[in-house]
Amino acid sequence: MKPREILSRSLWLAPLVLSLIFVGGVLAWVRANGVEEQELQRQTLISDALSAEVQLRARIDDEQTYLRQLAAGLAGQTPSSAVLAAHPEVNAGLRRLWLSVTWLDARNRVLAEVPEQAGANRYEDGLSLHLTARVAPDGVLVVRYAPALLLKRGVPWWLARKYDVQLVDSADQVIASSTDSPLRAAQGPRPSYRIALPGPLRASPLTEATLADAALELTLREPVPDGVRPLALVLVAGFLPLIAVASWLLRRQMRQVQRAEVTGRTEAAWRRAMEDSALVALRARDFDGRLLYVNRTFCDMVGLPAEQLVGLVPPMPYWPPDALDELTERNRRNLAGHAPREGFEARWRHSSGRLLDVMVFESPLVDAGGRQIGWMGSIIDITERKQLEERERRQVETLAHNARLTMLGEVASTLAHELNQPLTAIASYGAGVTNSLAKLGVQDELVLGALQRLGQQAAHAGRIVARIREFLTRREPRHEPCDLNEVISAALDLLKRDLQRRGIALELALSPQVPPVLADAVLIEQVVINLVRNAADALLAREGGRRIAVGSRLAGDFVRIDVSDNGPGLQGRRIEQLCAPFYSTKAEGMGMGLAICRSIVEAHQGILDASDTASGGALFSFSLPLSRESVHG
Ligand code: ADP
Repeated sequence: MKPREILSRSLWLAPLVLSLIFVGGVLAWVRANGVEEQELQRQTLISDALSAEVQLRARIDDEQTYLRQLAAGLAGQTPSSAVLAAHPEVNAGLRRLWLSVTWLDARNRVLAEVPEQAGANRYEDGLSLHLTARVAPDGVLVVRYAPALLLKRGVPWWLARKYDVQLVDSADQVIASSTDSPLRAAQGPRPSYRIALPGPLRASPLTEATLADAALELTLREPVPDGVRPLALVLVAGFLPLIAVASWLLRRQMRQVQRAEVTGRTEAAWRRAMEDSALVALRARDFDGRLLYVNRTFCDMVGLPAEQLVGLVPPMPYWPPDALDELTERNRRNLAGHAPREGFEARWRHSSGRLLDVMVFESPLVDAGGRQIGWMGSIIDITERKQLEERERRQVETLAHNARLTMLGEVASTLAHELNQPLTAIASYGAGVTNSLAKLGVQDELVLGALQRLGQQAAHAGRIVARIREFLTRREPRHEPCDLNEVISAALDLLKRDLQRRGIALELALSPQVPPVLADAVLIEQVVINLVRNAADALLAREGGRRIAVGSRLAGDFVRIDVSDNGPGLQGRRIEQLCAPFYSTKAEGMGMGLAICRSIVEAHQGILDASDTASGGALFSFSLPLSRESVHG
């Protein structure tokens, strides 16, 4: 599998992966937040502890000041419990914090003490701390107080509510606690802070010793939520399965889409293969005649790519320009739904200019909802079939032509037979006159010469008639070696006078390299005569500068004879039309000249052709094959 394919197949994982990254981010953020909060809490704890310490120290200092004032007030008085009990400062101290006030003499003997019975206060149990002050002249006042009471009275209420405030000694023994219900270890570790508080805490009344390692410890009553909050955990825990399910659904959906895509692609490939391999050209059009679709065969047929065709509206580029009106009309009929069910023939034009005959069958184009949205045309190229038909037609025509020639042969044969007698008569009369003149002793050269030529011409005419009759009846020329240049010269000799009379200049270009060919000289002479005579007839249309050129040359394995003129030219007519029997544009023309010429040339395995010259006149030429000896010799 290609990496791209793997990527597209695992695309459904992307949301899941992104969600996991997101959840990771959220958890990290919550954790960082928790750590920050703990730090904040620790700092609050420290500042609260410091504040508690300050408060306690201030309280002890205050009590010390009260005691000093009391000692100053008792200076010089006789020590007695009554004096002490009567003193308002003593009572105020006992109400505040003090457990007892004791008056000692210089040798630390108790002189007086209030209250008189110890144990009246519930804070009497446990460790007690002391404050002392000198009483003039030589007494000492000792005040005993409970550290628990100190904590209760000295720690502000808002600190006491938030923390367990305890006094702890060096052995971690709790000396006193601000609350009656200290936290149990089972309730889990809590953040706490310990701060040394030795200075003012005096343990013994008789020495200056202080509780050296005593410390104040603040412990948070409420446990701190640990790191990630449970709610966040619950949300994340709920979110992950949801996103997993969503990813699974997405994957299923993507698989379905992929399968549908593959099926769709396969179907499209099938359809395309079928359409492209079809021999029938297909085109779909909407009701305006706009091309919606064409298959490859259609594109090949008209020689244009599909991109250039789709979207086009009539007139189409493959319509021949000279038939636009007719095709537009027929197109309108077809789009209106009146196309013949059995199809119709049309002539289109390939982009190369070649014309093609097509057979078109129109059928309704229906969309997926069964609604007709246009027309689907199936087109078959019938050019070859048409050409075949044309060939067959021509063959039939040739047969008819031959039949006519046969008939012509019969006529000519009869005609020749009929002409033979008068020609023979002319010849014998000529001979008779010559003999009579000789007997009479007439020596006139002119008359005798004329009579001789008369005899020769009569004999030649007889030969021509006989040969054409022979050819038309047998359709086989005689094959004798003959020099074509000589044949041409002989033919032109006969026409020379006539051409001069008509003011036509004759240009001869006979190649001396032309070898002798096997041919019937009399018939070929007739061909040349006919072509030159036709040219002379055509030149009648021209005022002056009439010109006929006759040439011979070697062209491959053929000898080619050209007869051209500077007359009006062929005017679009083709050789087939000109050679058609009885086709003539002349008032007295028979229309058989070129037909017989072609028959003669083709009977020699040659070709007769006609075209226009560059200057606009006509050029008739025929080629006769060289004899094998000439080719090899
Ligand atoms: P005919 O000479 O009896 O008309 P042809 O078969 O010899 O019969 O000629 C057929 C037609 O061919 C002529 O009528 C003429 O229209 C045309 N044609 C022949 N030769 C030429 C030419 N050199 N120039 C123009 N048209 C010609």
